Amino acid sequence: MAQDYYDLLGVERSADPATIKSAFRKLAMKYHPDRNPGDEEAEKKFKEIGEAYEVLSDEQKKAAYDRFGHAAFQNGGMGGAGGGMGGGFGGAGAFSDIFEDIFGDFMGGGGARTRQRSSAQRGADLKYDLEISLREAFEGVKKEITIPSSEACDVCEGSGAKPGTQPTACGTCGGAGRVRAQQGFFTVERTCPTCQGQGEVIADPCENCGGQGRVRKTRTLQVEVPAGVEDGTRIRLTGEGEAGLRGGPFGDLYLFVSVDDHELFERDGPDLYCEAHVPMVTAALGGEIDVPTIEGGKIKIKIPEGSQTGTKFRLRGSGMTQLRRKTRGDMYVELKVETPTNLSARQKELLREFCEEGGGEDCPKSNDFLGKAKTFWDKLNGTDG
Ligand SMILES: [Zn+2]
Ligand SMILES: [Zn+2]
Repeated sequence: MAQDYYDLLGVERSADPATIKSAFRKLAMKYHPDRNPGDEEAEKKFKEIGEAYEVLSDEQKKAAYDRFGHAAFQNGGMGGAGGGMGGGFGGAGAFSDIFEDIFGDFMGGGGARTRQRSSAQRGADLKYDLEISLREAFEGVKKEITIPSSEACDVCEGSGAKPGTQPTACGTCGGAGRVRAQQGFFTVERTCPTCQGQGEVIADPCENCGGQGRVRKTRTLQVEVPAGVEDGTRIRLTGEGEAGLRGGPFGDLYLFVSVDDHELFERDGPDLYCEAHVPMVTAALGGEIDVPTIEGGKIKIKIPEGSQTGTKFRLRGSGMTQLRRKTRGDMYVELKVETPTNLSARQKELLREFCEEGGGEDCPKSNDFLGKAKTFWDKLNGTDG
């Protein structure tokens, strides 16, 4: 699926709809399963070119693909109102449309149907990856984002026709967008080659937008990310996508929020995890440490005498904010006892003295481990010998 759709069809990126269609048609004929019975390679190829054509033959999908590549169609479908970017490929619906379009003429008139098409088209949906920090996710944040976009042309007010003129009904198809022809016993219906199915033609195109009814621009937008947002959250901003074609409605803008890793806190849903390193002496004697909180404050934690690595403290309500909730998650602090390094000669001497003083009672687990290991070796030697 990763192969470039243009490469698959063997066309230039600048190819016009007719060229794309004819390239697909040629390949589809070649790889059609009916012509290659039992050939799995051909079938795979046939599916791939079908996917490529499904996208490249659809103005909205093509625009999305040109901008975002395959990523435009990942993360599940984006099927919004008016069918923005289709999700799954090869869905029976989409595929059969292509069949009717391309194979209509040799499959017989039965497959063809009249499609009412208005010349106005909904603008494409846009996708924007928004990266925020964990703190921003905690507090909620307003971000200014700049999106490459196209907007309704203000010279022709989106109609595509030169001011003072109007698009006229297509003479070839009489405005239906489809043409019919008799072929033997069958009536064949195809997209009108003159108006590309639009039903109308612009005799006098607007000079500002070349008849497209929209122009390329970048747009700055203030977006509000709510507190508690999670990594991977998708926010839909209705009507903030691309301008429609010839006065059609705007598409939607989808923000994909990704939350950056934090150097102190790890998030698991509503809860936060923080590893607190404490010096061996503090762990042994007990003491207090200040633990940072996500809101920027600190909480004192009492370290009991003889604390071990892995000891966990739960700080209720000090975790993350939660979307549309008043409660916060918890924070878990896990102790990591740090063995001192870079000791001075004096420190080493003190530690040796410390050790001699203990007589083994101060480290029961270490002694226990050594004892078990010794028993293990003894048993092995006993059996072998
Ligand atoms: Zn214009
Ligand atoms: Zn026409």
